[in-house]
Amino acid sequence: MIGASIDLARLREEVRSALTMIRVATFDGLTLRLEQGGNLGKGKCPFHEDKSPSFICGGKFRDRCHCYGCGVDYDIFEYWQKRRSVDHAEAVRQLAGLAGVYFGEITFEKPKAGVKRSPGKRLVDDAASSVKPSLPSLYQAKREDCEAIAKARGLDAEAVWIAAANKRLAVVKEWPLYQSKHNGLWYAKQGWEQHRCWAAIDETRNVAEYRRIDNGLHTRVNQGPDDDKGPKVWSTGGKKWPLGAAQIGDRKRVLLVEGGPDMLAAYHFLRRWNSARRPLLHDVAVVCMLGAGLRMRDDAMAYFKGCRVRIMVDADQPKDSETKTKRKLVGLEAAHRWQTQLAEAGAAVELFYVGDLYNPDHVREWHEGERAAGEIEIVQEGLLKADGSKVKDLNDVVHCTEDVQWSDDIREAMCAWDF
Ligand SMILES: [Zn+2]
Repeated sequence: MIGASIDLARLREEVRSALTMIRVATFDGLTLRLEQGGNLGKGKCPFHEDKSPSFICGGKFRDRCHCYGCGVDYDIFEYWQKRRSVDHAEAVRQLAGLAGVYFGEITFEKPKAGVKRSPGKRLVDDAASSVKPSLPSLYQAKREDCEAIAKARGLDAEAVWIAAANKRLAVVKEWPLYQSKHNGLWYAKQGWEQHRCWAAIDETRNVAEYRRIDNGLHTRVNQGPDDDKGPKVWSTGGKKWPLGAAQIGDRKRVLLVEGGPDMLAAYHFLRRWNSARRPLLHDVAVVCMLGAGLRMRDDAMAYFKGCRVRIMVDADQPKDSETKTKRKLVGLEAAHRWQTQLAEAGAAVELFYVGDLYNPDHVREWHEGERAAGEIEIVQEGLLKADGSKVKDLNDVVHCTEDVQWSDDIREAMCAWDF
């Protein structure tokens, strides 16, 4: 099926005037030292093993980069094509979405016969060649993977695709796997059904969290499909690492969430309100902690300096959900712990909370008792999903009625940054 085509050349020039090479490279995770009043960026080349900063962005040509080491010389689109292994039209499409110059579905004319989309690229190497905590083979998610994840989770497929394009989401072919203590390699666990799963991850490879693409529980082969003993989520690596911290770059706005599903939901809502006037997808960095129990790693703190960080408090289900006592506000305690750490690191931090699982009076009372810096915003008390169950995190808001999802309260909570 070919949808309505749009003028690729015109869109390309709009994107070119909206983005600089420095912004694109920073968005891609490069660390640049800025000179000439911020018009020239120098850093290590992403296309070769660069020991000294040989890579120049901007300067005379604001949309180009050049490497004095390996000689690459690209404009923003060529750069994105090479870095993301996508074709030209796809690069224009992705950058248009990130720049906020085109909002909505974009369908290009069918490519010429014989031109194929590049295959899924290996994102993380086999355990044997990996230096970081050993992870199984991961692949950059393809379009159809993103659509399957979006369908299973009620998300906007384009938002999932943007998460994948930003290397925050990858795919592993078989799950669960276990790592051999003997040789460090990954093996499939015998007696368990194998499923493709998606991983919340970033380019540091410090930690990854895996879930089935179809959002199901894992089942043991001999127990049949009714087996409910299997885990829904599985993670490896160090959970103290905030996913995406190293990709904040020069952005000053950070949305901090907890858990892979909330990370995808964050992209879902940022895309919903992304516009040329408010380029949320480009200017807001999504950072994700995998688990509420831990402090953030100290070596991640420098990335947050000078940022305005909004923490979406996750109302983790207490053991006894009827009790709702102050002592059970696990997600709030985690958010407060991170707030303290981030404030010490030089970030301005705000907490906000959407949902119903916690009693809002307890939330306010707890917050005052802790004498936490600033206030906590409580967005829409008593919020319920479309099926009548209680909202406990951002992922649940995706399952509210369209009226709630499009409400001013939710929009303001997600767009609270000044532009
Ligand atoms: Zn180079």
